[in-house]
Amino acid sequence: MTISSPPRVGIVVTAAGSGSRLGYGVPKALVPLAADGQIGDDTSLFALALRHAQLVDGAAAIVVTAPAAEVELFRSATSRLGMVIPVAVVAGGPTRQASVFAGLKALRQAGELDVALIHDAARAMTPSTTMDRVVAAISAGASAVVPTVAVADTLAQIDPEAPQSVAGTRGIVANVDRNTMRVVQTPQGFAWDVAWQMHTQFADRGAHEQQAATDDSTLARWAGHQVVSVEGDALALKITTPTDLALARVLFAQATGGTPR
Ligand code: C5P
Repeated sequence: MTISSPPRVGIVVTAAGSGSRLGYGVPKALVPLAADGQIGDDTSLFALALRHAQLVDGAAAIVVTAPAAEVELFRSATSRLGMVIPVAVVAGGPTRQASVFAGLKALRQAGELDVALIHDAARAMTPSTTMDRVVAAISAGASAVVPTVAVADTLAQIDPEAPQSVAGTRGIVANVDRNTMRVVQTPQGFAWDVAWQMHTQFADRGAHEQQAATDDSTLARWAGHQVVSVEGDALALKITTPTDLALARVLFAQATGGTPR
């Protein structure tokens, strides 16, 4: 496959999760990071992800996946951002995998694309420089690229099937050498045809949470493609729990000179 220079990059920003673990009562992607922020403003998770994504070298179009009931809300929030490339909002699916496939289908309307970049709104602070590293690796010939960071903690394996003891303890089955492990972040990048083929091949699994892939590089490996890693970024942390949100707000305040709530 020949890739134009700069490549035409289509970006899916996944934002269709409920974010129930955040305990905020609105879709997580609408939660603001600014101390004086409002739901869905330009410091909300999906807005920050969009603003970083549009700076990617070769960014041609973005599709946001939103919860089906909130598509109009996300559309009006997007229209206030002054984006410099076209952004469409579509309803996500029952799993992240299904949402990404819905996003890729919508991106096909943007014309010929070389690269699919798939990013979680939940990683709102990810700098565009990290995204550029992923795209550069695809341009250099890789089929599937993930940003990763080293593991700081000692890792242990449990048996998820083993019953918990009365005291709530769990047996450790093995320790895993952390030097052989990496934490996988987003955005993940794929040659466009690879992204389309793997999502088409495994679309059936995307209907069920138990069978769906939790990220796109898993699909690439299922489809037999080699996945390679580039350096990720601590700022690409996944905002899932209230503790993650508190940390992200401090980091955001530092980055923008504001004061955290
Ligand atoms: O659920 P999880 O934390 O793994 O979600 C990762 C990302 O995928 C989030 O940005 C979330 O909004 C998105 N997602 C989605 N559609 C779903 C579930 C999650 O777009 N059905």
